[in-house]
Amino acid sequence: MATTYDAIIIGAGHNGLVTAAYLARAGYKVLVLERRELVGGCCVTEEVWPGFKVSTAAYVNSLLRPEIIKELELKKYGFEMIPRSPSSFTPFPDGRYLMMGPDKEMTHREIAKFSKKDAEAYPKYEDMLTRVADFLEPMLVQTPPDPFSKRLGNLWKMGKLGWKFQGMGKDVAGEAVEILTGAARPILDRWFESEQLKATIATDAVIGAFAAPSQPGTAYVLFHHVMGECDGVRGVWGYVRGGMGTISNSIAAAAKSRGAEIKTNAEVGKILVKDGRAEGVALKDGTEFRAKRVVSGADAHVTFVRLMDPKDLPAEFLKAINRIDYGSATVKINVALDRPPNFKALPGDGVGPQHHGTMHVCPDQDYIERAYDDAKYGKPSANPMLECTMATAMDSTLAPPGKHILSMFVQYAPYHLKGTTWDAEKDRFADRCFDILEEYAPGFKASVLHRMVIPPPEMERLWGITGGNIMQGSMNLHSMFSFRPAAGYANYRTPVKGLYMCGAATHPGGGVMGACGLNAAREIIRDG
Ligand SMILES: Cc1cc2nc3c(=O)[nH]c(=O)nc-3n(C[C@H](O)[C@H](O)[C@H](O)COP(=O)(O)OP(=O)(O)OC[C@H]3O[C@@H](n4cnc5c(N)ncnc54)[C@H](O)[C@@H]3O)c2cc1C
Repeated sequence: MATTYDAIIIGAGHNGLVTAAYLARAGYKVLVLERRELVGGCCVTEEVWPGFKVSTAAYVNSLLRPEIIKELELKKYGFEMIPRSPSSFTPFPDGRYLMMGPDKEMTHREIAKFSKKDAEAYPKYEDMLTRVADFLEPMLVQTPPDPFSKRLGNLWKMGKLGWKFQGMGKDVAGEAVEILTGAARPILDRWFESEQLKATIATDAVIGAFAAPSQPGTAYVLFHHVMGECDGVRGVWGYVRGGMGTISNSIAAAAKSRGAEIKTNAEVGKILVKDGRAEGVALKDGTEFRAKRVVSGADAHVTFVRLMDPKDLPAEFLKAINRIDYGSATVKINVALDRPPNFKALPGDGVGPQHHGTMHVCPDQDYIERAYDDAKYGKPSANPMLECTMATAMDSTLAPPGKHILSMFVQYAPYHLKGTTWDAEKDRFADRCFDILEEYAPGFKASVLHRMVIPPPEMERLWGITGGNIMQGSMNLHSMFSFRPAAGYANYRTPVKGLYMCGAATHPGGGVMGACGLNAAREIIRDG
């Protein structure tokens, strides 16, 4: 007779692996089924060209929850952060540059090159964000309350939330609401006067989002990026030794050491439901696995629309799932280089501090707005915003000696193009990105050994993310917290008994955080 598992997890994304590890730790018999040949989902290291180990999707970490690192003993399984200092470098067309963080004195000196007033304001801005983060951060590892439930425990949770909110005080609370709902640009315009500083910060407000900094919702995206930490220092992003896949591999090792089974090349084709209860899954090749619980780490569209029969779900729920916005306008270009980019603004052979952090190509906020305008009308931006990182500047395990890997994360290029196709545009768009970087770092194009261009439809194909949306669904306020993935279902449960969700489609959303997986495991264990 076939084995019956306590839980089957669909997808070995890092969240699915976290759920698997916590359930296995609690004594559950767990099976993880992953469609690809490797674990990790959007958090992987792949040897794309001989000797080059590329973080093909996610490329920097800060958000991974410290409790997961500790409780799953990830360091024992190879997880190691490499803090980045400086954390960002923005060269400008006039030959100047802005270098920032985490060294506070250096940041002050650097901002003062453009505005003394901004240099004074910046630490206060960071303090304000820290106070809002103090309110929001604990919620990342909590199950959101259901605003429609009158159960006592739920009302208690809502009351506690209100109480904590009051505790922030009127000033900070007002700003917190603006951060949660508003646009990044007016906030930055109020705090600062130098366009160089505002443009550098604004890049974090739009990364992965199909929105311009002047649009509501972008302030939260900005904030989402400052909520993590690197080796205990808040807001600092770092590389992971061996690439981002080390995170997933270490979680997988932790799960396996506690008895979880992981099968790759095992694409689930159907979630099996009988009498309103999930009872297992069938792979695309027809193989069936039975379990008392099925937990999906795939996005909500894949889970409910592609893997289920609509008759097994309430129509209202399906309607809510079909409302989720999977719009995407981000292209990832992974590049193998013969040498580091040599910037006109800070020339030098070899690796320098300018290569340690994120290298932004984004001269001012209007540049981002105009780049967005093109995409809004279905065209790739004529002048896209580039966010480049070169992990090989700090991790020699990733490429042959002297060679480098550049990750270019580019905004904006929509999934749906008007009047053309991605087959026709892909190389043209990548060439344009290279031309732009060449203007700032002459000789860049001649240093390129290989490139891998991944527009949104390709992201969908590679990583199974609907619309190529890097967060498993956009992070608009109406899709967050108690409304992620749908109102009334933010507690990791679904309308089908024994069927749970554990991926970025749930609270607190996208990013390599592990919080979705951790929260889901807690709720599953609570149900017994
Ligand atoms: C290009 C890109 C860059 C990013 N950069 C960063 C970054 O630098 N830092 C950061 O913190 N975040 C970044 N993100 C976001 C982050 O990577 C994701 O939000 C996060 O990894 C999601 O993890 P997850 O486990 O919830 O889901 P996923 O990683 O989407 O995992 C879901 C898994 O389910 C599998 N699956 C789907 N359907 C099936 C099926 N039918 N059967 C079996 N398996 C299935 C998929 O193959 C996948 O492995 C980036 C994302 C992308 C795409």
